[in-house]
This record gives sequence, structure tokens and C-alpha cells, in this order.
Amino acid sequence: MKTAISDHNQPIIARSLTKILGYALQLQASAIHLQSTANKLEVRYRLDNGLQTVLVLSAAYGPGLFKKISNLAGLTPEIHEGQFKIHRPSYNAVLRALWVPTAEGPKIVLEIERQNKVQPELTELLPTALEKTVLTALRPSGLLVITGPTNSGKMTLAQAILRRLAKPNLNIVSLSEMAQAPIAGVNQSIIDPRRGYDWPQALHSLGRQDADLIFLSRCDRPEILRQALLSSTNKLIITILPSPSATDALRLLTSLAPEAKLLLAQLKLLIYQQLEPRQCPRCRQAVELTAVERLAMEKKLNFDQVLKKIVRDGLIGEVEHNFYKTTGCANCQHSGYNGKISLQQILLGGPALADWHLLSSSEQNKVIKKQTAHGLLESALAQTLLGNLSLEQLLKLA
Ligand SMILES: [Zn+2]
Repeated sequence: MKTAISDHNQPIIARSLTKILGYALQLQASAIHLQSTANKLEVRYRLDNGLQTVLVLSAAYGPGLFKKISNLAGLTPEIHEGQFKIHRPSYNAVLRALWVPTAEGPKIVLEIERQNKVQPELTELLPTALEKTVLTALRPSGLLVITGPTNSGKMTLAQAILRRLAKPNLNIVSLSEMAQAPIAGVNQSIIDPRRGYDWPQALHSLGRQDADLIFLSRCDRPEILRQALLSSTNKLIITILPSPSATDALRLLTSLAPEAKLLLAQLKLLIYQQLEPRQCPRCRQAVELTAVERLAMEKKLNFDQVLKKIVRDGLIGEVEHNFYKTTGCANCQHSGYNGKISLQQILLGGPALADWHLLSSSEQNKVIKKQTAHGLLESALAQTLLGNLSLEQLLKLA
């Protein structure tokens, strides 16, 4: 991995790239899209409120910028994916580059993963009640799958769980395509086919490492999933699968597994996570819902029932439940939103999942509902009553 340096004496391309990257990091963008066309180079950032065009440059910048990024990330006409690091005083960031040919011209997407020097603890990522559910379900062996859309904090959650489980008497092995912040007691191997270390090779050496717990940064290839299932008979395996929902994840897993039955038997826990823009804590205020708003809400969800469940589960206290609205302030650049909040669905494995892959899709959904220890809607209502989500966001999720 090479490092981007910010040196003001470099030529104009390097300076432009430094500015594009610096501004994206300052705005906490999660990705940068550089689209080159015949007459312009458009730079867009993925921010809390979606993709925003931040800069339109002359097409003359395209070839130079793309070449510079390709050099940094190790992209070639044959290799379309790569990464590079940026160092800043309070954090490091890994930029994952993907080259996409489009009809208009070449495009590069840079996904940004900040690696704060201080990694969040599990307690900061999951409410205490959910943390307990997760840790209890993780018996000495079996499979934990963390799923969710792109940029939903799956890796951050996986790393926090690893940090929580790491103990001096456990041998933990991590196979990942991207370097993660080191964890005491975790042996980290970086998959890098350019250096001759690919997944088949890494999986092959896994058997000789006498691991108690294995982390696999992906499992969306049959050979990786097969190894995960083999190992999960007597070890705990934690892995990540990008997917738009818990149901989709389960369907994908059972279709990829050498034996769907085996997968369902070994699955201990599936955590689905998604991120939503968080209402700005500086300018949010408790509000009474209007009669119209209350009616709209009652149409979408059984408020009293969901409230009872989240109070019983310990996600929120029993007293005073308010909704919140924001007014906009300097802290949130008058958008009303600042940062992200994560919502989870926690699905328990176990005998109830046996033959799930053979059921009709309506039966499948019923089983998923029954096995869901904690649902997305419950997560969303808890975050709404804590002030982090607006009523509109809640209704969109209901
Ligand atoms: Zn604000």
C-alpha cells in the first residue's frame, strides 16, 4: 500500500487530488465518485443526504487524476480494484478504489473507510441490551454473519466484537482484504493477490493455525463459505456478507453453501445493520406530535406494542417518551442531520431454521419474524425516542 502525501510543491494534479480527498474527509463523505466525460470531470461525494456534486473540473484533469489514483491504488488495465492509505493526525483513512468503465467515460469510485486511532467499543455500537443478546448467542462454536448494505458499518461492528472476545487464552485469526487497526491477541493476515497471497492460499493455511476463533472479511464465495462451515463445527467463525436485508442474506448464504442444511444448522446469529442520518444533537428539540402526525404513525406501526417491547428489552427507559425535531444550526450546516446512527435486526439461529431453504417465501418470512430477537422497527423506534431519528425517518422504515 502506498501513501498519499500532501505536499504543496507537487504539480497541479497532485494538489487537486489532495484537495478532493481532504474536503471529502472534512465533510465525512463515505465515498467519492469521479466521473470523466468528453467535456468535464465531475466530482461527487456521498454525504448523509445522498450523492452531491461538489466540483466540476475541465475534462483535461481526467487523465492525470485517474493516472495518479491508479498509481496510488495499484490499478492497471487488468486490475480494477485497489486501495491506498491517507494519514492524518487523528485518524488514518483507507481509500478503496474501483475502476468502472461507463458509456460516458471512465469512472473511479473511492470508498472511504476512516480508521480512527481510537476504535469504538461494542458498547458504543450496540445498546447494552442487544450487546448482551449477541454475546450470549455466541457459544464456543458456530457461525456469526454480519450483514447490511455497502457502508453500513459491518466491519466496524465485526472488529468491535473481535476486540470484546479477544482473550489471552484464545488464538484468534483474521483474514481480511483490508488492513484493520491491530487488536491485541488477533493475528491479522491481509489477502493481497498482487503479492501472491489469495483467498485459496489463506484458507489452506488456516487449518494449520490451530485457531479458536476465525474472522473472515467476506464469505460471498463458495470456497470461503465452505471453509467457514467446516471450521464452525468446533470454532467460532465471524464473517461479513453485504446484503440489503436479513432475508436476502439468508437466501444468498443457503444458495452459496455446499449444503444449505449444514449452513442453517451452524448459523448461530445473523446481525443485519443499516445506517441512517442522525438528527443533530445540538438543535433537536422534544416536540408533541400533532393529531395528523400521530394518525400517520398509527397507520404504519402499532406504537404501543412496539414501545412495550423495547421498554421490556431495556432499549429505552420507562419514563417520558418524546419525539424530536431539528431546527438546523451551524453544527449540522443547517441540514438538521449530523453523523449516522446504526439500526439492527438480530436473528437467532437454531433448530427453528432447519429446512428454511425449502419453505415458501411467505413461510420463510414467518420463521424469520419468529427468530428475530430484535427487529429493525424496534431499533428505529428506540432511536426515534432517543432523539436520533425523526418521525419521517421512522415512518419510512416502518
Ligand atoms: Zn443542528
